[in-house]
Amino acid sequence: MLSQTKLDIWTGTEALLFDLDGVLTPTAIVHELAWRRLFEDYLAAVGRGPAYADSDYFDYIDGKPRFDGVRDFLASQGITLPEGPEDDDASHETVQGLGNRKNRLFNTIIETDGVDPYPGSVHLVEAARERGLKLAVVSSSRNAPAVLRAARLAEAFPVVVDGAVAAREGLPGKPDPATFIRAAELLGVPRSACVVIEDAVSGVQAAAAGGFRAVVGVDRGAGAETLQAAGATHIVDDLAELL
Ligand SMILES: [Mg+2]
Repeated sequence: MLSQTKLDIWTGTEALLFDLDGVLTPTAIVHELAWRRLFEDYLAAVGRGPAYADSDYFDYIDGKPRFDGVRDFLASQGITLPEGPEDDDASHETVQGLGNRKNRLFNTIIETDGVDPYPGSVHLVEAARERGLKLAVVSSSRNAPAVLRAARLAEAFPVVVDGAVAAREGLPGKPDPATFIRAAELLGVPRSACVVIEDAVSGVQAAAAGGFRAVVGVDRGAGAETLQAAGATHIVDDLAELL
């Protein structure tokens, strides 16, 4: 049993740092689908197995920067590919090429189907804006601005530290805390006044290492005990529970 006191999110908090995929938008399911299409096709094309399994997403990919996901999944299959140049062509059999192929699959899916944010998350974002809190998105994805636009949330988040920003500034990805720390700096808020909201183990670990006021783990499937063990100070199933 998890025991926890309810987080009083409005006292002593000046900023909320949100992960994107799985926290604001159910894009984890879109990422999962794009990864599945990528690796099923790739393994079939090169005649390698075992086949891609549902658990592979959680074991090797979820929450990590894209190219780390490619490299770590391939390693689990005993496959090592050359890194390839950054922005390598999506048709090339390299870590960068496969990562860019996955990105193309993801963009095709969101452009076709759009993205509906979680209603409870929208309520929390609106309440935080009304109270004058500062808001940022901190995501490993390189597509964060496009996803925020597709979800009609872009205006709420003046600061976005995503995979593209991290690459440009040389910041290590989650589970390193650097991207969360950078977001707090850009908002001009001390870490002790920031609450981080995350759904992935690697993201919770990053936030826990960053010395923030609180780390809310949103249980979208990782499991409450797992998130708590990774460093979450509070666990919710939906962000409306924080209101
Ligand atoms: Mg996430």
